[in-house]
Amino acid sequence: MEIVPGIYQIEVPIPNSPIGPLNAYLVRGNNGWLLIDTGWDYPEAFDSLEGQLKEKGLDFDAISRIVVTHTHIDHYGLIGRLKKLSKAETAFHEKEFAFIEAISLYKEDYPGHIVEQMRCNGVPEEEYSILVESFTIGSSLIFPLDPPDVILQGGETIKTGLFNFEVIWTPGHSSGHICLYEPSKKILLSGDHILPIITPNISIHPYSSDNPLKSYLASLKEVDRLDVDIVLPGHEHIFTDLHKRIGELFSHHEQRVDDILNVIRDEEKTVYQIASEVPWILETEGGKVVCFADLAVFDRGMATGETLAHLEYLRMGGKVKRISREGIAFYKISVDKKEMKQ
Ligand SMILES: [Zn+2]
Ligand SMILES: [Zn+2]
Repeated sequence: MEIVPGIYQIEVPIPNSPIGPLNAYLVRGNNGWLLIDTGWDYPEAFDSLEGQLKEKGLDFDAISRIVVTHTHIDHYGLIGRLKKLSKAETAFHEKEFAFIEAISLYKEDYPGHIVEQMRCNGVPEEEYSILVESFTIGSSLIFPLDPPDVILQGGETIKTGLFNFEVIWTPGHSSGHICLYEPSKKILLSGDHILPIITPNISIHPYSSDNPLKSYLASLKEVDRLDVDIVLPGHEHIFTDLHKRIGELFSHHEQRVDDILNVIRDEEKTVYQIASEVPWILETEGGKVVCFADLAVFDRGMATGETLAHLEYLRMGGKVKRISREGIAFYKISVDKKEMKQ
């Protein structure tokens, strides 16, 4: 589907995805096509991408550049295969390279690191194996490690002839996430930084940064300054009212912070206990509120990671404290010194 003259959206299927396919974008250029995001490395995704290129009369060697917004497997998985077939130059952010290098380096230890993080945050032992399995399926699919030809830092301009995309570093959903902004056409390719319905997952995992939520909120502010008419996201539908959506995302995180503070108002708790007591919303089912116990184990893992990201944000902002007892972390409200004197 041609979104604006010269930019096509390609829907690449994702296995068992509650959020539907990945949106890759193909941009016509003076020296070949630019592909933004690739899809997951599994046969159905590859065949679908190949078929959609063929419909446009294109072979893989028509692609001269591949840029990925971040190295989650639904965006990055096919990069190695596509590079081999197209000889395209690949580019992504240096922090994403550091992330896949860390997973590659600690491949053997990765499950152990996940278990250690879960144990420390009070996750029950019976959930370890399912979570390790779901979190490592992803990492196994991004191998072998494919270093980019061009390492981005943000601030570069990717020129195609018709378009000049500014690379905007938007850490949060992942440490080296980037958005691409075309100022003269007021187009934003937002990756997973901003989606129209789902709130992007902001989690702490063994190789994430220490305070991803702080980075995410700062990146949202950064993007909020842009003059944008149309947003091309990594999933779901294309939308126009960027600033309204950013407002909703800020409110969501403020609400989540309030919910968490309420849960630990009187008592210190582990991350898992806190996650199990705050309300969760299934955005894929039209905003249905569900309790933690009704979530699938994988979603409970995501919810725990998200709760941890909010707690660490609050801790680094001085609002909560973390106490460790026998290797288990408990969070409690920081008592204001002035309040104590009264
Ligand atoms: Zn992602
Ligand atoms: Zn994604």
